[in-house]
Amino acid sequence: MSSPQAATNEPRRYQLFIGGEWVDAESGKTFTTPNPATGAPLAEVAEADKADVERAVAAARQAFEGKWSKLSARDRGRLLYKLAQLIEAHAKELAALETADNGKPIRESSYIDLPQVVENFEYFAGFATKIEGETIPVPGQFFNYTLREPLGVCGQIIPWNFPLLMAAWKLAPALAAGNTVVLKPAEQTPVTALELGKLIQEAGFPEGVVNIVPGYGETAGAALAAHPGIDKIAFTGSTEVGKLIARAAADNLTKVSLELGGKAPNIVFADADLEQAVNGALMGIFYNQGQVCCAGSRIFLEERIKDEFLERFKAKAEKIKVGDPADKTTQMGPQVSEEQLNRIKGYVDIARQEGASVLTGGASPELDEQFRGGYFFRPTIFCDVNNRMRVAQEEIFGPVSSVITFTDEVDLIKQANETIYGLSAGIWTRDITRAHRFAREVKAGVVWINTYNMFNAASPFGGYKQSGYGREMGRHAIELYTQIKSVWVDLSGKPIGWFGN
Ligand code: NAP
Ligand code: MG
Repeated sequence: MSSPQAATNEPRRYQLFIGGEWVDAESGKTFTTPNPATGAPLAEVAEADKADVERAVAAARQAFEGKWSKLSARDRGRLLYKLAQLIEAHAKELAALETADNGKPIRESSYIDLPQVVENFEYFAGFATKIEGETIPVPGQFFNYTLREPLGVCGQIIPWNFPLLMAAWKLAPALAAGNTVVLKPAEQTPVTALELGKLIQEAGFPEGVVNIVPGYGETAGAALAAHPGIDKIAFTGSTEVGKLIARAAADNLTKVSLELGGKAPNIVFADADLEQAVNGALMGIFYNQGQVCCAGSRIFLEERIKDEFLERFKAKAEKIKVGDPADKTTQMGPQVSEEQLNRIKGYVDIARQEGASVLTGGASPELDEQFRGGYFFRPTIFCDVNNRMRVAQEEIFGPVSSVITFTDEVDLIKQANETIYGLSAGIWTRDITRAHRFAREVKAGVVWINTYNMFNAASPFGGYKQSGYGREMGRHAIELYTQIKSVWVDLSGKPIGWFGN
């Protein structure tokens, strides 16, 4: 039970992880998660529903009131560090499973996802002992100080694009701060979160501190978000579902943090190092098959470099190796699901109807027999786009970039900000004044200058506008999972004179 099973071809079976035990769903129901490269079943997973969420919340509450709150911060940190080490020891199997369940190329799951998962658990392991209150210099004979305390039971709902990494972003700070958790992974990619459950057990976390309830959003997810017994709900996913979560949480005034969609501008000025900018544009939109909330999906090009940029961008996009994600040389695997693939195809039709043109891609690639049932799509570039088109305004969540040209910087900033989203933005220029001016003027939670898609566990991430609220990672994540208590102490020893004489 203790180590991840190696990635094989037989469908695996997983149960729910509740109160430290592996259990079937009360309904007895299961669902299948396919391998998106082939469409073949990868695993049969117990399907949590309202009743199971009920049990999981009760187990998390019991753990929070019981053993977990008695543990010292140092011991919490040590458990998180032990977990980081176990993940590292099993990184190879976990990366293979992530690739099998999600479709991302093995070079990404091995060299980006897994190392960042470990980094996040290590970073927050160190934070457990650094969560402090403050003393406030209030006037008069008083001593005022604050206690920073955990919230209690946290519901966490995560998406399928970085399954294990999103679990790490959510679990690590919540646990470091002393909370307990009920985690719902995405229906498309429950496998690595459940493998993580085994390692959580092996690390020795007390039972019920982490509970994992795979299932559907409309049932398990909705039951968790609306549950009066949770103190906080953290969600990453679509803006549409984020609004449902916020509404459900409002009834109980449950604290909420949301990390939602994006339609990031990735801007290239004529003075940029063109080769670097082309590579940055590729990284911005084709990484993880474009299934990235901060994808640089709107590429703004200064008019006079348009032809040269597009020539290089197109040539490099066409050279991207799309295919078997388990192959070390593959650069793009399949989209996560048939539903996502169809959604992307729909946007190709929309682009044409709106008057944009398809410079390259726009269809699925021809692949070997073995991968005909997979959900592959070619790297795609739309040209002749203007910022008001749907392909410039709606999150497509695929390897699809919309190219818009500009001549004037003031108008450019206006267009960059003309979106309901505000998660991230990129700019390519050698002019440092312009770069920093842009960083101030763009309404986005993360700005990349002459780079793209950079992350670190110490650096905050989150959105402006409808891209959500709250910041994950860094000390800001600790703020999401703690609350402040202000304590007043009288130092004068005298009775209060106001009414008492
Ligand atoms: P989604 O529905 O927002 O899924 C995210 C998570 O929320 C999943 O665990 C999902 O469960 C759950 N969920 C769904 N409906 C829920 C509800 N009513 N109450 C509580 N939880 C609920 O995203 P999606 O449908 O997988 O993808 C659709 C689009 O969302 C994508 O095309 C993309 O534009 C966007 N998206 C954004 C991100 C991001 O990182 N910002 C990530 C994923 C998707 P299920 O797994 O059962 O759906
Ligand atoms: Mg799957």
